[in-house]
Amino acid sequence: MTVDLDAIAHNVGVLQQHAGDAMVMAVVKGDAYGHGLVPSARAALRGGARWLGVAQLQEALALRSAGVTAPLLSWLHAPGVDFARAIEADIDLGVPAVWEIDAIAAAARETGRVARVQLKVDTGLARNGAFGPDWPMLVQAAQRHVADGTLKVTGVFTHFAFADVPHHPTVQAQQVRFADAVRDCERAGFDLEVRHMSNSAATLTTPKAAWDMVRPGLAVYGLSPVPDIGGSSRFGLIPAMTMSANVTVTKRVPIGQGVSYSHTYVTPRETTLVDVPCGYADGVPRAASSKGPVLIGGRRFTVSGRVCMDQFVVDVGDLPVQAGDDVVLFGNGADGGPTAQDWAEVTDTISYEIVTRTSSRLPRIYL
Ligand code: PLP
Repeated sequence: MTVDLDAIAHNVGVLQQHAGDAMVMAVVKGDAYGHGLVPSARAALRGGARWLGVAQLQEALALRSAGVTAPLLSWLHAPGVDFARAIEADIDLGVPAVWEIDAIAAAARETGRVARVQLKVDTGLARNGAFGPDWPMLVQAAQRHVADGTLKVTGVFTHFAFADVPHHPTVQAQQVRFADAVRDCERAGFDLEVRHMSNSAATLTTPKAAWDMVRPGLAVYGLSPVPDIGGSSRFGLIPAMTMSANVTVTKRVPIGQGVSYSHTYVTPRETTLVDVPCGYADGVPRAASSKGPVLIGGRRFTVSGRVCMDQFVVDVGDLPVQAGDDVVLFGNGADGGPTAQDWAEVTDTISYEIVTRTSSRLPRIYL
């Protein structure tokens, strides 16, 4: 796997143009969507990101251990998480619930430091975030802890349900609810530094939702969050990840030869088969059996038969191929080759899943 770090820096620049005066928080959770946490975070900062966002505290702590000093927000914590370490590492904590703000305040007391928290309001996604009557209770709890000197409320944020469908009525409704929540925070006397709600899709299609900061993930890595509206190139984004392999074995087989487990593909003529050494242990979806597109010798082919744990086979017809030749599964598409979006379409998923599930056993080469 190669990761083009200049592409990540470039994509952040594109997102900054869409964000106008708002700052960009590059979301680097999930090992930077499979691209590698620390190198990707550094590239995003080089491209102009001012903040980094992660889901889990361990991801934020890994960034701090690597020497990344940029402002960091972590937003998904289960009971038992070591909030004291987060406070000591100067990590902003996204908070959706009273139990959590109480636990953070207790950890702040222990460490003798003021914790920085950002309140997460559920404006309609019905996922993580304070919903309905839980929201004013969260604001009141935050007020109490601000008054006793354990917390500073640095921000308020929410997440869209339909950012990829910009005209969906919930997009407007969530903005209205978020404006109410911001007002609640201002009335409570919080000295907010950031108010934010936009993921990649909203950053690209709903600029008026940018507030002080946008929070894109997928587009940082050059993939379009709205493939129905336009692909990467429509937005000037460059996909950063290329997944490729080298042919291990080639063989000439007769017509009627069943290929790979269960012989779900049978050769329609005498042909050449090539074995490609990556499989579902590497993140190649098994659902791509007989569907996944690849580029070999400048021509597109399709996976022939089942994707196995460590390998799959491609029928290349009469193309002269040798052991060691390159097979591109997906990349930036510039050479007419397949993209992560193409793999998502044939496997009935989203490009997020294709790149994020690439396995840690794949060697990553940073360009
Ligand atoms: N903000 C939050 C709270 C998220 O959970 C995510 C990702 O799911 C993002 C921002 C980034 O979303 P996207 O990758 O669609 O830009």
